[in-house]
Amino acid sequence: MTENHKPGILGQTPEELAELAGRLGGKPFHGRQIFRWVNQRGVFDFEQMTDLPQGLRKTLQEKAPINLPKVVKSTTAAADGATKLLLQYPDRQEAEAVIIRDRGKITLCLSTQIGCPLGCTFCMTGAMGFKRNLIAGEITSQFLFAKKCLKPGETVRNIVLMGMGEPLLNYDETLKAMRILTSEQGPGLAARRITLSTAGVVPKIHQLADENIKLKLAISLHAATNEKRNLLVPLNKKYPLEELLPAAEAFARKRKRRITFEYILIEGINDTPEDAMLLAKKVAPIPCKINLIPYNPTPFAPYKRPSLARINRFREILFPRTPAVTVRFSKGGEVEAACGQLAANYPLNHLPKKFLAPALTP
Ligand code: SAH
Ligand code: SF4
Repeated sequence: MTENHKPGILGQTPEELAELAGRLGGKPFHGRQIFRWVNQRGVFDFEQMTDLPQGLRKTLQEKAPINLPKVVKSTTAAADGATKLLLQYPDRQEAEAVIIRDRGKITLCLSTQIGCPLGCTFCMTGAMGFKRNLIAGEITSQFLFAKKCLKPGETVRNIVLMGMGEPLLNYDETLKAMRILTSEQGPGLAARRITLSTAGVVPKIHQLADENIKLKLAISLHAATNEKRNLLVPLNKKYPLEELLPAAEAFARKRKRRITFEYILIEGINDTPEDAMLLAKKVAPIPCKINLIPYNPTPFAPYKRPSLARINRFREILFPRTPAVTVRFSKGGEVEAACGQLAANYPLNHLPKKFLAPALTP
């Protein structure tokens, strides 16, 4: 871990901050105060943390400066108001967060890695390869910065881990970040309003089912046979459907809650009536919802979004057989913020300094 890439204050638990405050000559409860300032009030400047002793504020500034990311770019789509934030971390790597607006209710889409090693053939993030994992503070800072960009009256209702990266390949830091976001001393979000989306890292799905933080689970299924899924989600060769579907079922049963299967519809690849029949059959034993996502074209993949008629035909075959089916037309498409289409559109690490917006400080 480079000097620039230290956790700093962001991404530390109240306990870790209590220990830090103690080490720097303060009291443990000062650590909990710092946690609140940062995670509840979005204050990143020690000088503004008025209930901390002056001396401690100075020491913190010297010994534990906060490594804030910078907002490099922020774009809002005229059509649906979705805002994409491109954040640059101190090592100049970039990740994105998307603010999705739906009648005042906000869903934040957060990234857990820079790039992704799994190389799904329809995904922009997959095409850019893997750069590195994000640490907890880099994930929570997406939330904290996005909150500063909300309009009056808007509140964050849901979080979806559907930005860049595979959260279950960055398990510990992702979970740590979610524990911070659900902490009563922090933003206090409800775990049931946070959805973790995975391409199917089976052992980690089992592990997640046993955690005391009850996140919702979405599995990017995209095909009902190994043959087709191998093509779309290469991870399927490692964890085929015979392992993934039982893991999904075990998760749903343990939590007594439906999981979501995401299914991208790609013309001629996985959108035929036979595909729909097979999908309905495969998921029948599993308490689930199915979210159909018409494919968002990317410049490099040879795939096409199906016509509305084909999408509807697929949905109609599924619907009576699988009780909950929704079709999601990815929001943010206009600002190239549709899930899976994130920072790959921007040159990474090559932006001249003059283009960097100053960090959004309170
Ligand atoms: N790695 C995780 C989470 C990030 S991807 C996962 O794969 O689930 C979030 C969602 O965006 C996934 O369901 C993914 O399949 C979808 N996605 C990626 N590229 C897409 C595209 N071009 N069109 C529509 N959905 C896409
Ligand atoms: Fe990675 Fe998810 Fe994209 Fe697949 S769809 S490459 S797992 S980010």
